[in-house]
Amino acid sequence: MQSKPVEVPSIKKPITRSPGFAKKELSDYKLDACGLCQFGCRYCSSNSGNYLRIRRAKFADLTEQQLDERLLPSEDPSLMFVWPDYLDRLREQLGKKSKGWGRGETLVYSMLTDGFSPYLVSSGITETSLRLVLEKTSFRIRVLTKNAIVGTSRWTRFFCEHSDRFVVGLSMGTLDDRWAKRVEVGTPSPTSRLKALRKLQDAGVPTYGMLCPIFPDVLEGDQLEKLIDRIRPQEVEHVWAEPYNDRQNWEAVRSGYRRGGHGHRWLTEVYEQGRKDLWSKYATELYMRLRDKADREGWLGKLRYLLYEDQITQQDSRMFEGLEGVLLQSKPDKDGRSRNTWLATMRN
Ligand code: SF4
Repeated sequence: MQSKPVEVPSIKKPITRSPGFAKKELSDYKLDACGLCQFGCRYCSSNSGNYLRIRRAKFADLTEQQLDERLLPSEDPSLMFVWPDYLDRLREQLGKKSKGWGRGETLVYSMLTDGFSPYLVSSGITETSLRLVLEKTSFRIRVLTKNAIVGTSRWTRFFCEHSDRFVVGLSMGTLDDRWAKRVEVGTPSPTSRLKALRKLQDAGVPTYGMLCPIFPDVLEGDQLEKLIDRIRPQEVEHVWAEPYNDRQNWEAVRSGYRRGGHGHRWLTEVYEQGRKDLWSKYATELYMRLRDKADREGWLGKLRYLLYEDQITQQDSRMFEGLEGVLLQSKPDKDGRSRNTWLATMRN
């Protein structure tokens, strides 16, 4: 995929708090190095996030001026927004902080974009960003990427040199490289991501599992269990997992599935025909299989299942008894309780 970088104004302070990721227990702070990721996953939630949504028209104008085409991120996965003075802004922000900033806290690189987008890696922005955070702060850095380049010897050496500061994860929700080519547009294949994860583990770099999102077709047969085995749960610090949550992109995701196949049918039934009970059933089965496998194999304490629980039906709620390994993600009521009354009872 030929990428189309468009320059847009940088944000003032690249490092900011990340309450959304804190709720997921992934990080306290985040650092993004560009405005729109160079990869084009059709399910990416960033397109519907505040940053791009609020600036949609302005960025479309800039795209038109620079590329002679009016393109939108949701329509063209090859589009990328770069921040020309991002490194200056990062240096400026870090210049005002003491080296102790971030002690005992985690910073994710990155949250809304992929900080190992090929453009950022080849231009040196990735390495400079990471070195600046290493030198000027005390954060532990959680690398979150889909770029298998992190498993090359150059990068494993880099992470090993600072293994007390890094934990690295590659997100993946399938072993199907052909599916990924159609839906995770422009990313290295799941097979190459898994190889990279293994190389990091074999080199002694701390790693974590990021099975996000896992689509319903992965529940067919034993694909899910095979996927879990491949990330080597015994080796990683934690295993995050998540069902697919629609962010106004289900039609784009469906276009990556064969018409008449399970995934295509499921997306049609749930989102076009409004069968929300099927989403509940799928999210529940996914949890139960993860929990049972983790329990059998002794790594249940590592499981972090991210669940937007307002969509879980009363009948399925029973399967979450004890909420082991579950992090509830839906907005709570004003007393901080889950709005899913059945799950709220279990928690109290
Ligand atoms: S790699 Fe991550 S940030 Fe980039 S498009 Fe895919 S899901 Fe979005």
